[in-house]
Amino acid sequence: MNDYSMLINLVYVVSATLFIFGLKLLSHPSTARKGNMLSAVAMLLAVVVTMLDHQILSFELILACLVIGSAVGVYAARKVEMTSMPELVSLFNGIGGLASLAVAYATLNGSVGLSVFVALVSFLALLIGAITFSGSVVAWAKLSERIVGRPIIFKGQVIANIVLIIGLFVCGALISLQPNDGNWHYIAIGLALVMGIMLVLPIGGADMPVVISLLNSYSGLAACAAGFALENNLLIVAGALVGASGIILTNIMCKAMNRSLINVVTSGFKPVVTSDMKIEGEIKPLTAEDAFYVLEAAQSVLVIPGYGMAVAQAQHAMKELQGLIEGNGAEVAYAIHPVAGRMPGHMNVLLAEADVSYEQLFEMDEINPRIEGFDVAIVIGANDVVNPAAREMEGSPIYGMPVINVDLAKNVFVLKRGMAAGFAGIDNPLFFKDNTRMIFGDAKETLTNLVRQFAD
Ligand code: NDP
Repeated sequence: MNDYSMLINLVYVVSATLFIFGLKLLSHPSTARKGNMLSAVAMLLAVVVTMLDHQILSFELILACLVIGSAVGVYAARKVEMTSMPELVSLFNGIGGLASLAVAYATLNGSVGLSVFVALVSFLALLIGAITFSGSVVAWAKLSERIVGRPIIFKGQVIANIVLIIGLFVCGALISLQPNDGNWHYIAIGLALVMGIMLVLPIGGADMPVVISLLNSYSGLAACAAGFALENNLLIVAGALVGASGIILTNIMCKAMNRSLINVVTSGFKPVVTSDMKIEGEIKPLTAEDAFYVLEAAQSVLVIPGYGMAVAQAQHAMKELQGLIEGNGAEVAYAIHPVAGRMPGHMNVLLAEADVSYEQLFEMDEINPRIEGFDVAIVIGANDVVNPAAREMEGSPIYGMPVINVDLAKNVFVLKRGMAAGFAGIDNPLFFKDNTRMIFGDAKETLTNLVRQFAD
């Protein structure tokens, strides 16, 4: 190793260290901005030093790609609605996979005399990259409702998967032994693309958060394999970090839904309601004016946000109401379910945007033992994450999934537009409980109305 490549590797070590510290800081909301900044600096350092590497042949091409990529990135990030963020994340995961696939393809086709090891890791990058790409496109189509969101399971699926796996094993072996035989590359890419589709089709309904973080992890693993193929130490480390953090997040999501990963990936989410699962009770609507009197008398208020808060962009109105309730001498706390909204941390991002203090946010496990003590629980556009069927209705598809037990609070106000089901597509007995009042309408309008009542 000459002095120059030693210097490059040294800078890579600095970047990798900054990435690790950046990730560590990202683990708490109060330090997350700093973590993001540190990781961005690490990435800049990595890009600059890689550009200085003598093996880079065409700066013009890199510059053109940088300009096009940045323009598309800025446009996509500015245009995307907060509610469509998961779809965008899904597409970005897919593009990460596609990039690794391209690197692997170029390595296999562009060099002669590859060692078995390099050919094997290139095949792995190609395989995982292609699976990530097509899987992410299917996840994007499901989330954006371009195809049905429920699990798609068909006869012969298991056999088709076994045939695909055998085919991919054969391709892997042949590519490792004869890396320059181009035909096998195309067959492997084709099979891996189909495999990606087959992996995501049977997942749907409330299981989608798991698939998003799983694909995120795959994109990291593909980059890690591409790093081995290119002998680029930083790509190996950065890919491994993304792969590992994606798996940790997947595990957290699975726990939040009381499912095992194998169960999510293989069995499909089944929204079935059997006859002995009839919901009893009646709907009791309430006006914002009447809700105000209850809130005015409350000593403690718990807010449970969900996807509907993101749709209505009701977080600022809620923050304003929080100030008025606190000014009235009551305590306000927020309960955050790990899969509330449509992406990990969705609610935290919205509430941070509205300047709600981190100290007032509580995770499900912290708040559930205290719920009975709250005078009022305000459910803002949440549905699945507060569904007591998870506790009460054996046979319900969400039975056993930990939820925020809002029905145990003294009074529950549910803010939603109508009786529509949530993402999982199942009914919610919470709306029929004796202590629940439904305040129908757009959540932001309802909260603004409540603010007006307090101000008058
Ligand atoms: P849900 O999807 O269960 O429910 C959202 C509710 O919001 C709907 O019932 C809807 O009812 C209501 N709503 C929509 N727009 C408005 C509005 N403008 N004002 C008031 N209410 C509105 O959301 P939850 O957050 O409770 O649960 C999240 C679900 O999404 C879970 O099933 C989770 O598994 C899944 N998921 C989560 C992901 C994640 O990473 N967090 C990713 C992908 C899926 P109505 O139309 O009647 O108003």
